[in-house]
Amino acid sequence: MTQSTDHRSKAELRLERWNGYRPYEYLPDDAMTRFEFAPQIGREPGASIVWDPAVEERARAFEESHTIVSAHDHLSLRPADPSDFAAYRRQGREATPYEGIARSNVDVFFDGGPAAVSMIRSHAPFDWDDAVADLAMRQSDWAHQGLVRTVKTFGEATARTPDQVGVVLTLEAATPIGNDLDRLDVLYGMGLRLCGVVYSESNQLGSGLAESGDAGLTALGKRAVRRMNELGIMIDVSHSGDQTALDAVRYSSQPVSITHAGSRALWPTARMKPDDVIRAVAQSGGIIGVEAAPHTTVSPQHPRHSLDSVMDHIEYCIELVGIDHVAFGPDTNYGDHVAWHHTFAPLFGKDDGGAEPLPPHEEVPYVTGCENPTEATGNMIRWLFSKGYREDEIAKLAGGNMLRVAADVWR
Ligand SMILES: [Zn+2]
Repeated sequence: MTQSTDHRSKAELRLERWNGYRPYEYLPDDAMTRFEFAPQIGREPGASIVWDPAVEERARAFEESHTIVSAHDHLSLRPADPSDFAAYRRQGREATPYEGIARSNVDVFFDGGPAAVSMIRSHAPFDWDDAVADLAMRQSDWAHQGLVRTVKTFGEATARTPDQVGVVLTLEAATPIGNDLDRLDVLYGMGLRLCGVVYSESNQLGSGLAESGDAGLTALGKRAVRRMNELGIMIDVSHSGDQTALDAVRYSSQPVSITHAGSRALWPTARMKPDDVIRAVAQSGGIIGVEAAPHTTVSPQHPRHSLDSVMDHIEYCIELVGIDHVAFGPDTNYGDHVAWHHTFAPLFGKDDGGAEPLPPHEEVPYVTGCENPTEATGNMIRWLFSKGYREDEIAKLAGGNMLRVAADVWR
């Protein structure tokens, strides 16, 4: 274990702890198909940013002395060839990007895992059996290595273990539970500590953001919110319709958060949040994590999606609700995110009326500075230092605020 006299960096300690373990290495080669994966580091060299040495030095010292939290990412290694996506998912063994995690500055990831859990038995997203299989399967792999540890309590989230990275298991929607609230307890028992109410398509709890109407939380949805309060599961309305999000805040006795979105005032899409929803979440004690998945948080000032556009959304939200209610929720993964969108968008309820109409914008192959979970939070921190933000302010955005919500909600 790490000694207090050890002055090596987090990354050095983590690379040593990782020790080259490959996903499901404990299985013989004939037990599973080993797909060729996208490189975890430097997949798109153009996406990297070189910072001023003084900024770099301050950021590194900050990262070594603070608990850095990503409110939403996907610790998901994607196949190098996008046409392998479906076959890869069918196998039900989502690969964890250990090297990328080891080289990250993040101490605690809220992990969305394989988005739209998990399309193993069919292409239908959010199947119950798939969700359970995926949550258990990845933890089986993690039990065979020492770098990644699951986080279920505030104490575990804030434990100083520089040679390890904490992972909070999350689901982007409660859709897999169907009409059975006891399944929330089952998911909690499997380690789940944050759950979305609904994804783009409506479910039995409420309306998703891709729908043309939003009747708010259903009666079952209100009971689900209460059960999540009783269990100590953080509630996420990132993909909920606006009225459903407002209802979740109204009926929850605990803070409600938006772990990954941005401001609709800057970029008028259903995926972004209007001011009243962001305000309601902040008034509940929750946060809005600002995301960076390609073509989400574009801004009028920076219409070619990049770190600068993402930070425009962060500054807008700080101005709107104060710095205590904003966080980093990059929503990135390891692989070609744009290709992944093109492959899976038709499965998320967007295939009948065409894709969600976005305002005119340039399609980018990747988001400079926010291409993957290893680089996104580091560049956000460096950007803030370069703009003169104080260390105590950056500490709130880079982890403090999300940890406060965890302290309020988790048992
Ligand atoms: Zn999402």
